[in-house]
Amino acid sequence: MTTAVAAPFRFFSLQVVRTRRLGPSLVRVTFGGDDLREFRSDGRDQSLSLFLPHPGQPAPAVPVELGDGWWQGWRELPDDVRAVMRSYTLRALRRDAHGDTEDTAEIDIDFVLHGVEPGAAAPAGPASRWASLAQAGDRVLVLGPALADNRAIRFRPPEGTDLVLLWGDETALPAASAILESLPAGTRARVWLEVHHAGDIQDLATEADAEITWLVRDEKSPSALDAIRDAELPPAERPYAWIAGESGRVKELRRHLVRERGIDKRRVTFVGYWRKGLTEEQLRERGE
Ligand SMILES: Cc1cc2nc3c(=O)[nH]c(=O)nc-3n(C[C@H](O)[C@H](O)[C@H](O)COP(=O)(O)OP(=O)(O)OC[C@H]3O[C@@H](n4cnc5c(N)ncnc54)[C@H](O)[C@@H]3O)c2cc1C
Repeated sequence: MTTAVAAPFRFFSLQVVRTRRLGPSLVRVTFGGDDLREFRSDGRDQSLSLFLPHPGQPAPAVPVELGDGWWQGWRELPDDVRAVMRSYTLRALRRDAHGDTEDTAEIDIDFVLHGVEPGAAAPAGPASRWASLAQAGDRVLVLGPALADNRAIRFRPPEGTDLVLLWGDETALPAASAILESLPAGTRARVWLEVHHAGDIQDLATEADAEITWLVRDEKSPSALDAIRDAELPPAERPYAWIAGESGRVKELRRHLVRERGIDKRRVTFVGYWRKGLTEEQLRERGE
């Protein structure tokens, strides 16, 4: 007997189906394409690598025909040709979006629009700019999961967890929202979500027994560290924390949870989603 081992990740060639503004800082882009038939994910904080074209290119340049050699081939393309690669989160997967066949599967990705507003303090990155202009028919490549349970899902509360703590800024709002949707009824959760504007606050669906605090920077809410430090947490023997967002914030929160709250560091999942002042290429070059 032979055992087929399916590759956990593959390229999906997708097109924008529609976009919807969720608030001042967030736009939801819905993608479709026949390739989605092979897309599998258990959701939660499922991350993806998204490849985007430069302005004026009809499609992102990635030499997928090279098979396993695509990475080397992609790196060797000229800077102004090589597709822009960025990390994003699967916000939702609908297998049968139109209620007829699997051919109509769709995925949603929620993009933070940073730096695109007139007079922005820092210029937009290419992904933020792309998302602000996205239109139906625009082509992208996604390096995403073909196996539902894969290593790009990091939210993994150990067996017996009796309290879930979540913190995320707006880049981690899609992941935190999908995590909340996945929590079984009755799970105790304490959640802090940080956004720029009150208009970015969303209604989140969950069956968990979740207390959600929104921290709105524009309204001078306390910092995440102050809010979490001051919070009285319900008693728990086996808490599990998931924190994701700007790397500096993630580090200080992790330090607080482990050193000041005494949470076992193996029970804290932390992911830097972006770093103030550095592009994703610069972070990759530094191995972060
Ligand atoms: C696992 C993972 C999942 C992620 N999921 C999402 C997601 O679902 N939605 C999402 O919007 N982002 C998500 N991110 C973050 C996203 O990859 C980064 O914000 C990325 O830098 C955006 O690329 P860019 O081309 O717009 O900016 P870049 O070219 O990478 O950066 C340009 C400049 O903008 C700054 N910058 C980057 N992001 C922000 C921001 N949010 N606010 C203010 N300044 C910023 C950088 O520090 C840099 O100075 C995720 C990251 C990871 C690692």
